[in-house]
Amino acid sequence: FEIPPVNNEPMRNYEAKSADRAGLQAAVDAMMAKGTFEVPCIINGREVRTGRKSKQVNPSDHAKALCEYHEADEALIGEAIKGALEAKTAWEHMPWNDRAAIFLKAADLLAGKYRYEVMAATMLGQGKNVWQAEIDAAAEACDFLRFGIKYAEQLYSIQPPKNSPNVWNRVEYRPLEGFVLAVSPFNFTAIGLNIPCAPAMVGNVVVWKPSPMATYSNYLVYKILEEAGLPAGVIQFCPGPPEPIVATAINHREFASLHFTGSTFVFRNLWKQISNNLDKYRGYPRIVGETGGKNFHLVHKSANVESAVHQTIRAAFEYQGQKCSALSRLYVPKSMWNAKGGFKELLQKHVGEISLGPVNEFQHFMGPVIARHSYDKIMGLIDAGKKAGGQIITGGVGDDSKGFFVQPTVIETTDPGSVTMVNEIFGPVLTVYAYDDDKFEETCHLIDSTTEYSLTGAIFSTDRAALIKASNLLRNASGMMYYNDKCTGAVVGQQPFGGARASGTNDRAGSMALLLRFTSARTIKESF
Ligand code: GLU
Repeated sequence: FEIPPVNNEPMRNYEAKSADRAGLQAAVDAMMAKGTFEVPCIINGREVRTGRKSKQVNPSDHAKALCEYHEADEALIGEAIKGALEAKTAWEHMPWNDRAAIFLKAADLLAGKYRYEVMAATMLGQGKNVWQAEIDAAAEACDFLRFGIKYAEQLYSIQPPKNSPNVWNRVEYRPLEGFVLAVSPFNFTAIGLNIPCAPAMVGNVVVWKPSPMATYSNYLVYKILEEAGLPAGVIQFCPGPPEPIVATAINHREFASLHFTGSTFVFRNLWKQISNNLDKYRGYPRIVGETGGKNFHLVHKSANVESAVHQTIRAAFEYQGQKCSALSRLYVPKSMWNAKGGFKELLQKHVGEISLGPVNEFQHFMGPVIARHSYDKIMGLIDAGKKAGGQIITGGVGDDSKGFFVQPTVIETTDPGSVTMVNEIFGPVLTVYAYDDDKFEETCHLIDSTTEYSLTGAIFSTDRAALIKASNLLRNASGMMYYNDKCTGAVVGQQPFGGARASGTNDRAGSMALLLRFTSARTIKESF
């Protein structure tokens, strides 16, 4: 039988006085009034309170803790691995339709009964405004589950095109032998969900370390999976600091795969440690990671200025520039940049009007950055940009007295290799380089060679020949290329997401290719 067709989860608008707005507001208020929630580890379906606790603070109001979570340690991870391996046989042999039903049901629970609660946790814990929470914790999270199941179904159906007389050839897509270590980031609840679920959908068992800065929303989505029927032990929910969890997992003989989204630095380090351990493992681990970016918009002189400005603001400043895909370097022809009423003036005006404030107030376009260390890093890089001769054309100021608020900042530089043009900032900072109008091609080469990353990029042009020329010159400069659209906002089921070079292994979140990585094929030839 076939899995029913799936669609993208429709987005809701939460306008004032709507039922959705009232429901979400009530969930946010209740969560704020409730005080600190205690989050346990969940191992073999049992809540475990280790007693070593850490807090996840509300970045809009850092004196308040949203939750206090129990940290997993080496011994508990040892138990988690053992339990996962014990759960493995039943999970991988569960009929595919029953396994699929669990994830499809989880998507429906998330879309309906728990939508507001998971969004509220994403808003208060990860500093997303209502729109960004809807895109992430409601729409994208459901899409990962539903399309993931569809992609798994497609994968299973890929079979050798040929049989000989009296021979039936087939390929079985077995899960990996051993367990998967899933390490997820703070910036998307949906990615928190997809990092353990993608391997689990194709029959793997998973030890999941959520980000300490997204523990609460990630705990809620784990509970939804449990309510949807996920058997105990299939995904082990292990919050806590990375070292003991990761070290125990990657030293284990049955370590089969790392599914990671996070920083380039951490990913490289893990890969090195895994390489050093190769002799310990049963097989060659599958290493799948999505890491940093230094994403660009290239504007051609033929571009529609208003639209390019609009898309630029959304790409650079939505969710405070904390998407891996966020825009951080912009290339505009000098004449367009400097014209009266041109790009620079429009950008200055509209960015200057952006409202910034606590996400529970609902009306702000921007909220806080995630944590103290991000705030300090971002402010440090703004400073370094200024010292290197960059001109702040708007923003440049932060206020961490209550929450971690950084004004949307635009820096103009005449040095295309300057500190804020090259380094990933992961904050609301856009650096602009105005290029000579007749140096479009050279600018493409510059974009391609300035950074080590290759995640997202966009070209704005009404001249198709220029668009295609730039796209060809920038063929390896990004894994996601947008024509006349912002470089963020990939939709699961429509634009499979990923990047190469230092941005990741390019295995495409939300695609069949990703699921393939967590399978180990077996060919069966049967003769009659
Ligand atoms: N898929 C998201 C987008 O296109 C970004 C994912 C990420 O931040 O890792 O905006």
